[in-house]
Amino acid sequence: MAWRCSGRENLELIHNLYNAGIITSQRVKDAMLQVDRIFYCRDPSKAYLDSPQDIGYNATISAPHMHALCLEELKDCLREGSVALDVGCGSGYLTSCMAQMVGNSGKVYGIDHIRDLILLSEANTRKGNPNLLEAGIVKYIVGDGRLGLAEFSPYDAIHVGAATKEIPQQLLDQLKVGGKMIVPVGDAFGQELLLVEKKEDGKLCKKTVTGVIYIPLTSEDNQLKRVF
Ligand code: SAH
Repeated sequence: MAWRCSGRENLELIHNLYNAGIITSQRVKDAMLQVDRIFYCRDPSKAYLDSPQDIGYNATISAPHMHALCLEELKDCLREGSVALDVGCGSGYLTSCMAQMVGNSGKVYGIDHIRDLILLSEANTRKGNPNLLEAGIVKYIVGDGRLGLAEFSPYDAIHVGAATKEIPQQLLDQLKVGGKMIVPVGDAFGQELLLVEKKEDGKLCKKTVTGVIYIPLTSEDNQLKRVF
C-alpha cells in the first residue's frame, strides 16, 4: 500500500505515511515533517511521490516509506545525544532526518564513496536544513562506507543505504553495545533488510524487517549497490 502514500506536499506525504501505519511514532513523524523532501530531490515535481527518485551517479533517494521504516526501526537508538552513521548517504535526506532525532547534542555522520554525492548531500542539507550543518550536528565525509568511520565510533545507530553481500565486520565493530544497525543484505538475486542489535553481552541479534525481494541496478562487481 506504500505507493498510495504520495502527497501533494510534504505535510500530506507524511500524514499519509502515518495514516497507513508506516510511520507509527510521533518522533519519526516530527523528524520527517522537518525535512522537506523537495530539497533533496532532483525533480521537484516528483518530490512527494512515495517512490525512489534518481539523484544521478546511478543512485536514488529511497522511497519515503523505506525511510520511514528505517527510522522507526532505529528510533530507540536515535535519541538526544546519540551518535549515528548513515552509510551511502546519497541525497542526504535520511542523514538529515536522523539528525532531527538526535538533537543538538547528537551527531550524524553521512558517508558516501562518490564525492559529488557528498557535495549534493551538503548542498541539499544547506537548502533544506541549514541549521544541522551550522550547529555541527551533521557532517558529510567521502569514503568507503564498508569500512565505516572508526574515528567517530562507536555508534548508537547505523543505517546502511546500499546492499552488501555480507555485513561488513568493521560496521559491526563500530556499533555500540545496545546499538542497532539496519542493512540490506543479499546479492543480485535477492535481498532482505536486516535489523542487527548488539546485545549487552556483545552477541548480535538479527531480524528481517521486510521480506521484499529487490532488483539490483547493476551487479557486475562486489561494491555496495543501492537496489531499492
Ligand atoms: N540513503 C540514500 C540512498 C542513496 S543510494 C538516500 O535515500 O538518498 C545508495 C548510496 O550508496 C549511493 O549514494 C552510493 O553512492 C552509495 N554507496 C554505494 N557503495 C558505497 C560504498 N562502498 N561506500 C559508501 N557509499 C556507497
